[in-house]
Amino acid sequence: MRVIAVDGPAASGKSSTAQAVARRLGWGHLDSGALYRAITLATLDNIGDGAGGRGTGEEWSPQRILALAEDLPVRLVLVQDVFRPEVAGVGVDEAIRSERVTRRVSEVAAIPEVRRWVNARQREAARDHPVGVVVDGRDIGTVVFPDAPLKIFLTAGPEERARRRLAQRGERTSPDELRREADALAARDRADSSRPVAPLKPAADALLLDTTALSLDEQVARVVALARERFPG
Ligand code: C5P
Repeated sequence: MRVIAVDGPAASGKSSTAQAVARRLGWGHLDSGALYRAITLATLDNIGDGAGGRGTGEEWSPQRILALAEDLPVRLVLVQDVFRPEVAGVGVDEAIRSERVTRRVSEVAAIPEVRRWVNARQREAARDHPVGVVVDGRDIGTVVFPDAPLKIFLTAGPEERARRRLAQRGERTSPDELRREADALAARDRADSSRPVAPLKPAADALLLDTTALSLDEQVARVVALARERFPG
């Protein structure tokens, strides 16, 4: 199986690392969070905020959400070795990063039926890729690809993660904003770590990599070196 699993908490650098590693190896890159985000976007746009009579639209049900994902459809499309999320044939790379999606994605990702659907899409993508895939998320090494020959669990201190996330958005980082962002990331990590289905945690055979003091280039170089050992030739 030619899969590298990269898991870790929000803003630990998973996607940037996974994408750069994939490029260096000539493999595909699949960001599983993007698929959860695309389903969340489709749900908010087509069903509403799930608050029933107290908000916009109708209440969320797993059946409704899955029917939407199938019918619109929500899917991953391979473009130059990157699996990109699409909703109803339109690329949603930017829309899925909005605050409104980020705030609700952990709720959608806690629905077991949604996870089953997303997992099936990931396994199809890996099966159909001619070379190999670097997949990043929360449960890639524990649930989606438990037999992946290389599993990395990235961590970084909460403040460093908040700083990276704000820098990524090109925002100035005042101490207040930094604290707010760190709190928001911590809340999402708590939700992702405490859910009963596929909680965020390292697989028993994952290699832990603390990136707090590492540059992106250094993280990538370490994972590429491990990949060349595990996947010779
Ligand atoms: O990686 P990203 O922060 O974009 O993921 C968004 C959300 O999707 C996470 O907070 C988590 O709730 C969910 N997710 C997940 N399992 C994965 C990837 C993402 O539950 N494998």
